[in-house]
Order: sequence, then C-alpha cells, then structure tokens
Amino acid sequence: MKVALAIVGAGPYGLGLAAHARGAGISCQLFGRPMSFWREGMPEGMPLRSPPALTLLSTPGAGYTLEAHLEARGGPGAARGPVPRELFLEYAEEFRRREGLECTAGRVDVLAREGDRFVLQAGGERHEATDVVLATGPALHPWVPPQVSESLARSSWRHSSEPPGPEGLAGARILVLGGGQSAMEAAALSARAGARVTVVARARRLRVVDSRGIPGRGAIALVHRSTAVLRRLPAGLRRPLARLLAPTTVETWSHGVLRGLGVGFCLGARDGTFDEGPGGIHLRLADGRGLAADRVVCGTGYRVELSRHPLLAGSSLLAALRTHDGLPVLDDRGRSSVEGLWFAGLLAWDRFGPASNFVFGAPAQCRAIIDRGVARR
Ligand SMILES: Cc1cc2nc3c(=O)[nH]c(=O)nc-3n(C[C@H](O)[C@H](O)[C@H](O)COP(=O)(O)OP(=O)(O)OC[C@H]3O[C@@H](n4cnc5c(N)ncnc54)[C@H](O)[C@@H]3O)c2cc1C
Repeated sequence: MKVALAIVGAGPYGLGLAAHARGAGISCQLFGRPMSFWREGMPEGMPLRSPPALTLLSTPGAGYTLEAHLEARGGPGAARGPVPRELFLEYAEEFRRREGLECTAGRVDVLAREGDRFVLQAGGERHEATDVVLATGPALHPWVPPQVSESLARSSWRHSSEPPGPEGLAGARILVLGGGQSAMEAAALSARAGARVTVVARARRLRVVDSRGIPGRGAIALVHRSTAVLRRLPAGLRRPLARLLAPTTVETWSHGVLRGLGVGFCLGARDGTFDEGPGGIHLRLADGRGLAADRVVCGTGYRVELSRHPLLAGSSLLAALRTHDGLPVLDDRGRSSVEGLWFAGLLAWDRFGPASNFVFGAPAQCRAIIDRGVARR
C-alpha cells in the first residue's frame, strides 16, 4: 500500500502530526508504538516539568486538552502542581482514541528512496509513501561527555536515559553530571534508592525556575508566535538567538526535593578529568577540588548527530542531506534538502529552536510541517 505521508515515531510529535494530516485529508501511516519513550524510557511516577496547560497534544482544531481529559474523567478541570507521567500517558492514549489514530506497531528498520517514493520496512513488511516525516524523538541521541566515555570503563557510567545496573544503588557514591532537569531527576532517583549523590555542574549557580506558574493559553500562544518568528529568521540570526533562548533550568520543586534527600552539589565544576582505580572513580577539577565515586550518571541531555541516526547512518539519504552541527538544515516548514523528507521534534531544532525540546513545541511544528507544508504540495 502506498500512502501520501508516513510518520516515523508515535510520540507527542508523531501523534500531533498524524492528527493534523487526518484533519487535512492526507492519507497517512503512523509508525511506532504510541508514546513508547514516555512509557519505557522515563522513570515511573516522574512528574512532568511542563505546566499542565502546556502539556497538550496538537490538533488542527480546538482539540482534546489535558484539562478536557481531567474534566472528562470527573476531576477538576485544571491539574495543580506537576503532572504525573502516568496521567500524561493516559491522556495521550485517550487523545489517540478520539482522533482515530491507528499505529503500524513495528519499528521502521529501513528507509530508502526509490524513484519518486520512499520505501519503509517495518515488521518485515514493505510500505511506500510520497512524503516521510521523521519524528523519532531524543532517545536515539543521548550525549555523554568524552571525558567520561574515554576515561571510564563502560560499566562505571550510564546516561540518565539508561536504567541503573543490577549492582544496586544503596550506599553507592554516585556523581550525577549536569545542571538541568534530567540531572536533577536522575539524582533524585538515585538518592531515593539509597545512594549518596553529588550533582556536578559546570554552572556556578543553578537556574531555578517555577514553570507551574506559567499561565496556559497565553503561554502557548506566545510559544507559537515566537517559534513563527524564529523559524523565518535567517540562519545567522536564528541560531545565536535560539541558543540565547534555551538556558538550562531546574524546577523549584525538584530542587527542593533534592535538598530534602540530602543530595550534595558541586557547582562551577569545569575542566574535570576522570580516572579510575581500585578505590573507585576520581574526578579532579581544574580548581583543585576532587570527588570520589563508585559510579557516574550523565544527566547531560541529548545532542542530535544525524550521521548516527539508525535510519540514516550510511544511507544514500544521509549523503544528500544538508546538515549543520549534526542537525538537518530545514526550510521554515521543516522540509529537508531531500525532496519529500521532513523532520520534527528535536531533529527540527535548527529551524524551530528551543521549543522543540518540549511537547509544547509540537503545535507550531505540526502547523508548519503539515498544514503549510505537506498539505500544500
Ligand atoms: C526524563 C525526561 C523528562 C522530560 N520531561 C518533559 C516534560 O515535562 N515536558 C515536556 O514537554 N518534555 C519533557 N521531556 C522531553 C520529551 O521527551 C520530549 O518533549 C517529547 O518526548 C518529544 O516528543 P517526540 O514525539 O519528538 O519524541 P518521543 O516522545 O521520543 O517519541 C518518538 C518516538 O519515536 C519512536 N521511534 C524512534 N525510532 C523509530 C523507528 N525507527 N520506528 C518507529 N518508531 C521509532 C520512539 O520509540 C518514540 O516512541 C522530557 C525528557 C526526558 C528524557
């Protein structure tokens, strides 16, 4: 079967893109298990950092919001405090049902261009599409500082997206690297499991913010407008501005939780070198400070390097893709230099900027890619 559009990845961006495609009457196939990164790659009970009103999936019309979901299940219309991961998953599943979005469950193993169409292999079957959007999310691109990966045994460190090893955390000395929310969540998880945790961050001061106070509809309109302006700017202006608009921040509530758990902080930690011996791991900082540990957790986030994307690595598509700093270079509708190939979510950071790191960046991308892009081809 050949469809007009194949969307690879059924996370918040893939679901939103599929809802927009359906709204525009585009024949579309959505590949992947719905919300699998949120279901399997994030800790149980994890509270979302984004405020309830910004935790919504995108539709072309008014749509089914988290608030509407809470009302539908008989609770108060607005969630207070951080939204638990499980509630977001429940909302996403109901969103998918209401929007009538079916997923082709298999993972896409191969993506290739054949003449005027794309061929995708998933679950041993061949599928064809005129256009493809890759919405495969951040999980394929964990970033680990080379000082860690080149100096320590692989069993001595893990990225925060990986589950802790079988050796257990109780009593272990853990260094969590990073000054953002991922690092804070990894630190809380280890400390709750009985580890002695120190967060090591380059920043001299953590930027502690409280996103819960962000008013909903006003904020989403602001995200739309600022993304719309940003994506139309020339690269020389857009890229530095986007970096400026993307400070690393930590939520007040999680910072409070860490203090309550007795987590230590080593801030202003620059130019560290690691070594490993019988006594464990040693981190020496340029200013003379030193820290000892049994294991290191890298809460250092995600960085896209397209040449390592499993669907592109070594393919002729990659050779035809223009990239900048590992990211695809896109036009202001998310279209790449390969005819018919579009990118969404974190993969579209170079064009859509910091909102691409969050679920609330999806509406602006869905409108650009589907309503103004694929639907007008
Ligand atoms: C610990 C943590 C906490 C976070 N908290 C928040 C938060 O509070 N608020 C917020 O807005 N954002 C948060 N984020 C960021 C969040 O992950 C992204 O905003 C969101 O998941 C992006 O959606 P996506 O659809 O682009 O990617 P994903 O949710 O990752 O979805 C992409 C999907 O594509 C699938 N996929 C990949 N390759 C293939 C393939 N070959 N075939 C088929 N399917 C494939 C993946 O399995 C995945 O299910 C958090 C991230 C982390 C790691």
